Amino acid sequence: MNCLDIQDRIVDLILGDIEPEEKEIILRHLCECPICAEEFDFLKECISVCACPELEKIDESYWEEFVISVHEKIALTKPKPKFPYRVVIPIAASAIGVIGIAYFLFFKTPTKEVARPEIPEVQTDPFHEVYELSPEQQREFIKMVNQKYFGE
Ligand SMILES: [Zn+2]
Repeated sequence: MNCLDIQDRIVDLILGDIEPEEKEIILRHLCECPICAEEFDFLKECISVCACPELEKIDESYWEEFVISVHEKIALTKPKPKFPYRVVIPIAASAIGVIGIAYFLFFKTPTKEVARPEIPEVQTDPFHEVYELSPEQQREFIKMVNQKYFGE
């Protein structure tokens, strides 16, 4: 029996619903295999927590679903690798920042109107405006950013 077969039978072993020979094989495997032993301990604990007088009335499919749902819950609570987000977000944020600054440097000529508070300023979104440029303007813009910041 391999680990999958063993783990499949662990619940039966815990519930005592198993042939003596098979029990022996599984117990021997549990002594040698820390992974299955851990699974055994875990399921034993779960079942003892859930143990109730109604237990014997529950049919086998209940335990199959029980084990699957427990594994799903474990998979959900495992921390996701954070590496891509930690790196990508600062890079994306600084790239957007550079584009925004560059846009104002190249496309916006500062006017005196800005300094006069009585004239309501039209609030513009620099990021949005960049995307509204025509493809030619975008290429020109990217070229200018590259020349200014990366010396290309
Ligand atoms: Zn094993």
